[in-house]
Amino acid sequence: LGPTICIGEILAEIVATTTGHGFAESQPLIGPFPSGAPAIFIDQCGRIGGKAAMIGAVGDDDFGRMNRARLERDGVDVSGIAVDDTLPTGSAFVRYRPDGDRDFVFNMWTSAAGNLRWTDAVEAVVSGAGHLHVMGTLLVRPGIWDMTDRAAQIIKARGGSISLDPNLRKELKDDGETAARLAQILEMTDVLLPSGDELQLAAGRSDRQAAIDALFARGITEIALKDGTRGATVFTPGAAPVHADAFAVTEVDPTGAGDCFGGAYIAARRLGEQIATALDLACAAGARNVTVRGPMEGAGTRQELEDFMKANRRITH
Ligand code: ATP
Repeated sequence: LGPTICIGEILAEIVATTTGHGFAESQPLIGPFPSGAPAIFIDQCGRIGGKAAMIGAVGDDDFGRMNRARLERDGVDVSGIAVDDTLPTGSAFVRYRPDGDRDFVFNMWTSAAGNLRWTDAVEAVVSGAGHLHVMGTLLVRPGIWDMTDRAAQIIKARGGSISLDPNLRKELKDDGETAARLAQILEMTDVLLPSGDELQLAAGRSDRQAAIDALFARGITEIALKDGTRGATVFTPGAAPVHADAFAVTEVDPTGAGDCFGGAYIAARRLGEQIATALDLACAAGARNVTVRGPMEGAGTRQELEDFMKANRRITH
């Protein structure tokens, strides 16, 4: 039916090589790396062999060229990425604290990413797309929400499907408008990719099974629940859950695990893989990506993920 598309921010990420608090002092850095949650998702999708296209905006600068070149190299259609000649590509400085939490210095919403518009190029990509992956965090941005909603309507009308990674714990608790947008997109969602308590939050039910049943009743056909080093489980109506244990790896940089998991899972399912196979590839993609510094540097091809699965044992609980 056409490629999987993702709409949202593309940015250059510069990472501290030491852990600590913030950027107030001069310190060794590494990067720039291509980044942005939607870009990580779509890069993994393309890299594993799925048809993929990105909708976003970069500046007419090296950070923009780096991002476009990476996505193109990995098989992503970049015709929906606008090159803005008035604003720079978004950027983020990231430093991990000793407890694993992160400090950021962002330049996003006064960058090209904050100036994303529905253009003829966007229209062309969306009207040929078969699947839209929605990032919950972007529902808080009115401009991106409008584009997401418009793309969702077009894709559903042509028989396409939608996946949603809610990624919205904090925002959902204190923002009624975001919750309303989430409810609207949930009505159109086919595949949900929650982690932690997002499943319960999305359904508005505190009991997990009640939440799953409520989401199935709303038309969701597949729930892939991510659980970090405990692996992931896929729930489908009327069938036993399918679980995959995580792979035992040394985590170097946790950024992008959930997005690589999602990109691999959606691409594999759309390529016709069974749930168990797609889930194994997704767990491998998430785990492989955390072994490499940089948000999408560890995204794997099908062959790289197969090799990774052979070389790494699973964590059993
Ligand atoms: P993010 O922190 O990127 O938002 P998430 O909460 O959406 O992530 P996770 O559950 O952290 O998603 O990661 C997705 C999948 O990636 C997990 O189900 C697991 O299979 C794999 N994964 C993530 N982190 C690790 C790790 N440290 N070791 C092994 N596998 C991992």
